[in-house]
Amino acid sequence: MRSLVLFSNDLRLNDNDAINSAIQSNKEISLLFVYDKELYSKTHGSANLWWLEKSLFKLKNNLEKKNLTLNIISGQYTETVVKVASKYNFDSVFLNENKHPDFIKEEENLRIELKKNGIQLHCFNKTNIINPSKILNKTGEPFKVYSPFYKKCKFDYVQQKVLVFPKSNIKHFTIDEKSIDTNEIFSSSNNKWSAKLEKYWEPGEESAIKSMKDFFKTSLFNYKDVRDIPGTLGTSRLSPHLRFGEITTNQIISNFEFHENHSLSKHEEHFIKELYWREFAYYILFHFPYVVDKPFNKKYENFEWENNYETNLSKWKKGLTGIRIVDAAMNELWESGWMHNRTRMITASFLTKNLLIPWQEGEKWFRDTLVDADIANNVMGWQWVSGCGTDAAPYFRIFNPLLQEKKFDPENLYTKKWLKNFDSYSEEGKYDLLENENTMRPIIDLGKSRNIALERFSNIK
Ligand SMILES: Cc1cc2nc3c(=O)[nH]c(=O)nc-3n(C[C@H](O)[C@H](O)[C@H](O)COP(=O)(O)OP(=O)(O)OC[C@H]3O[C@@H](n4cnc5c(N)ncnc54)[C@H](O)[C@@H]3O)c2cc1C
Repeated sequence: MRSLVLFSNDLRLNDNDAINSAIQSNKEISLLFVYDKELYSKTHGSANLWWLEKSLFKLKNNLEKKNLTLNIISGQYTETVVKVASKYNFDSVFLNENKHPDFIKEEENLRIELKKNGIQLHCFNKTNIINPSKILNKTGEPFKVYSPFYKKCKFDYVQQKVLVFPKSNIKHFTIDEKSIDTNEIFSSSNNKWSAKLEKYWEPGEESAIKSMKDFFKTSLFNYKDVRDIPGTLGTSRLSPHLRFGEITTNQIISNFEFHENHSLSKHEEHFIKELYWREFAYYILFHFPYVVDKPFNKKYENFEWENNYETNLSKWKKGLTGIRIVDAAMNELWESGWMHNRTRMITASFLTKNLLIPWQEGEKWFRDTLVDADIANNVMGWQWVSGCGTDAAPYFRIFNPLLQEKKFDPENLYTKKWLKNFDSYSEEGKYDLLENENTMRPIIDLGKSRNIALERFSNIK
């Protein structure tokens, strides 16, 4: 009797229900990651693929230290799992569910195909801490606003045990299939971007735990006050680790006495609330799956976006908008594969509410360039800022990037860090016509474009 453990975005040994349950079943186990190129290209942007490659490499090494082999096999997801499971007489497959809509379809398909072959599929959910189908309002409908959703989650919260990778009793079964090298997923050797990302990030489970502990030690005590200041290290930077399941929200929250009548500090609870924004994003995706490319609030489908926006979109992507904080943020993204939450909001607002470019274009760019690109969070973030999502910023809230910079980066720590040509931008967006041609000028008049946006939004109210 044999069990096959299948990995996707759960690249960790601890708090891993699929591994622990397979081992508890007291059968021989094998470990498998199927690299379905088409599926991974559809569901992972370039920066995601960079992370995946590094994280898989770490996972494989960690398993080797325990005398276990992670087989990384290239092929169509369902076909490959069924082929391996049948060929080597596995009677069950264990996996932690992947909540990406394309993986959900693939895992459903896998269940059907395994069943045809008399193989059982055991699925677990540690991508999230909530079960979206269980969190409903008094009338049995899904919540559409975050605050009551959070209140209900807090009321219902029960800490789940944090699982530890079993120390003994593992019977490993070797499967004899051609395993690919992780660098077939993202070839670092021909990619300059890889060298840049390596300066900022260390993928893998150990690094995830370390980031959490460092954050608890150095920044959590005043998180609520500094989380909005992009020039400081005020947030946890756990997002890519969570994206790839190198750490679970369950592990993070287990460090707190979280319950309805908790006595946590405002900073601690605020941090937990942010983790619940991630839960909310997955919750909305579960109940309203059309949000991946359409506005949650359907009336905004008719919003009048600009038509010929390629030039401005390209300038936005390259950090050449002439607006200091926007360009700094876009440089941060291109340079490090990450952007601070405050500047994600500022750049997204500028794209959708000043340049009037569809939010889907910005979502696509973030999806390709963020190491933490995550379908649920990214879509929710973009819809929230552009005013068409659940709980969205009201349409008339249009960030003024100059005021945002004054408020959140008053000493220009952030803009100076990410703009090599900081001095070519003038103060407060005012430009003297006699200034030299190297002066960065805004590609759009902030006031006029704001008024056009307001008018177009009010037309569809
Ligand atoms: C336009 C836009 C696009 C975004 N795209 C993504 C994305 O692709 N992937 C992603 O993980 N987050 C996304 N976010 C949310 C947020 O910006 C990041 O989660 C956060 O900046 C990550 O930094 P951190 O880990 O230091 O966060 P912390 O402040 O330390 O928060 C801890 C964790 O809580 C979760 N979290 C925090 N803020 C949010 C939020 N607003 N929405 C949902 N979850 C949150 C994240 O998992 C984060 O790692 C987006 C936000 C906006 C406005």
